[in-house]
Amino acid sequence: MLNIKVTKNPNPKPKPTDESKLGFGEIFTDHMFVMTYTEGQGWHDPEILPYGPLDLDPAAMVLHYGQEVFEGMKAYHTADGRILLFRPDENYKRMQRSCHRLCMPPVEVEDGVQATMELLKVDSDWMPTAPGTSMYIRPFMIATDPKLGVRASYEYKFVIIMSPSGAYYKTGLDPVNIYVETKYVRAVKGGTGEAKTAGNYAASLIGQVEAKKDGYSQVLWLDGIERKYVEEIGTSNAFFVIDNEIVTPDLSQGTTLPGITRKSVIELARSWGMKVTERRVTIDEVFEAYKAGKLQEAFASGTAAVVSPIGHLKWGEHDMDIAKGQIGTITKRLYDELTDIQYGRRPGPEGWSVEVR
Ligand SMILES: *Cc1c(COP(=O)(O)O)cnc(C)c1O
Repeated sequence: MLNIKVTKNPNPKPKPTDESKLGFGEIFTDHMFVMTYTEGQGWHDPEILPYGPLDLDPAAMVLHYGQEVFEGMKAYHTADGRILLFRPDENYKRMQRSCHRLCMPPVEVEDGVQATMELLKVDSDWMPTAPGTSMYIRPFMIATDPKLGVRASYEYKFVIIMSPSGAYYKTGLDPVNIYVETKYVRAVKGGTGEAKTAGNYAASLIGQVEAKKDGYSQVLWLDGIERKYVEEIGTSNAFFVIDNEIVTPDLSQGTTLPGITRKSVIELARSWGMKVTERRVTIDEVFEAYKAGKLQEAFASGTAAVVSPIGHLKWGEHDMDIAKGQIGTITKRLYDELTDIQYGRRPGPEGWSVEVR
């Protein structure tokens, strides 16, 4: 249990008045959580304080060598006025694994969940309530030691900020256009692909920028060695429905981010009796299935969009139009059931919903 000191913001900001205009990650609540790590002392001084700039030395190691990890999760307002988190323990477990890869000190899972819940309570009047809106929560950790020698930092800050966010889909689930990236790669075996760490995203921007220029909304990443195996779609996990079987890249290579939505999709679809297989999937196989008329659906999964149907895949010379540009029935059912659980309209499996209040 953390003993969190709370300092209320004396100058609260005006709240957004029109929730239909909320974007993603653009405005922030009145408070943030901050905790400090010092070598030899461990984590100390957990506090909730007014949202504002961090006091950071220009030599802080995160600014030079990128020692950072982050998480992303949401809190949902239910019709009867409760606030629910979706599997927050999974986020903090993943953060521990990311910390391990980046030589950073882990925060206890229970402490992370507790800090998140207390911050949500302090800023509960910022919780958006319109359909499809949510509170996006961004826990992150940075190396703050003011030293330029390359080594693991001795000092860190663990911070949580929150952003009321709008409905991802304004007009129903829109299928997206995806470009299969064959020039750049996101991760290689032995690298940091399975960690949620800043550098992965910095390195992936160029692919996204170039794909956007050509009218695609995201890239599908292939493996870093053979440019053959499907890994991820943008910053979400990839799924294909081939011949009534759900297929998704497995995590054995350490190059794919272990999404919590991914895990939930797999568990939910299996609970319906569907066959779900985690294995290596080649882009050739996807194209062959498409040509044979067996590629029924493709979608991406992640906290932001839950599931995002793929209407079109461009791989070199090949164009694949999937599910006639419509939302596949499995994609739609996954979206409906997952959002029902998240917004408390339907009970989920044990432990999926954690009540904040
Ligand atoms: C966060 C993330 C995902 C999705 O994870 P969720 O826990 O489902 O939100 C997938 N891929 C990448 C690269 C990510 O950063």
